[in-house]
Amino acid sequence: MPELAYVNGRIVPIEDAVVPVEDRGYQFGDAVYEVIASYGGKMFCFEEHFTRLDRSMKELFFPIVHIDQIKRAAIELFTKADIERAAVYIQISRGVSPRNHSFPGDIPVQVVMTVRKIAGKNPPIQELGISAITVEDFRWGRCDIKTVQLLPNVLAKQKALDAGCYDAIFVAKDGIVREGSSSNLFILSEGTLITHPLTPDILPGITRSLVLDICQEKEYPVRERFFDKSKLYDAVEVFLTGTITEVLPVIRIDGRPVGNGKAGPAASALQESLLKRLKS
Ligand code: PMP
Repeated sequence: MPELAYVNGRIVPIEDAVVPVEDRGYQFGDAVYEVIASYGGKMFCFEEHFTRLDRSMKELFFPIVHIDQIKRAAIELFTKADIERAAVYIQISRGVSPRNHSFPGDIPVQVVMTVRKIAGKNPPIQELGISAITVEDFRWGRCDIKTVQLLPNVLAKQKALDAGCYDAIFVAKDGIVREGSSSNLFILSEGTLITHPLTPDILPGITRSLVLDICQEKEYPVRERFFDKSKLYDAVEVFLTGTITEVLPVIRIDGRPVGNGKAGPAASALQESLLKRLKS
């Protein structure tokens, strides 16, 4: 099956999918989104992604949306595409209306989805680890809402690539380490895994929450608390978590090796446990 798109009820090949120019997502970034990964032909954490999508819309005062209809449409699209290992992208905008900052009247939201294959990672970065740079976090104050306004994330990622690295880590002005450009971040320090607490400054990642859950199950010491850049530099292990990222070791930050400069056992054990859950 070709990679498919859904635009307000119509399913078409991706290259034929278009949205109106006055879609508020296009003109104002007035849209929210989710990315769901599938393993073995099954969408993983489907309910969790839709719960977060619903929350994002409520936080932005979107009109009432029948989330069950959108879930059914996502299942229909995914089933039609019939791709075992896919990324299902779902975007909902506040609708199509003549350009004006104020909310439009009573108009329907626009729902757009795509299903694409996820290519295997080559080189195998999960095993080798990646290098990263730190960048100042200049995003807005509601990073907990998953909106399509991703320009700071785009610029951060490109800055990392231009520096010969794979990703960027956002660090606040006061030195607090937040998260990756499209992932959450954990460090292993003095035998404890640490990640930023859930605040409006980071996305409540679904993989982050799975990793916390696995830690609890396996009785790995873990804390949600703030830490600064010097603690990041001194960490024994650092890794990123995300739906597409899974658990990804970071082995160099700003040119300095993390720990012994190799992917560490904590990240690898968590990646293994995550894969077990994904495939069960
Ligand atoms: N933080 C940011 C900024 C992200 O874009 C993502 C990817 N959605 C994450 C964290 C990880 O979230 P999840 O595990 O739900 O994919």
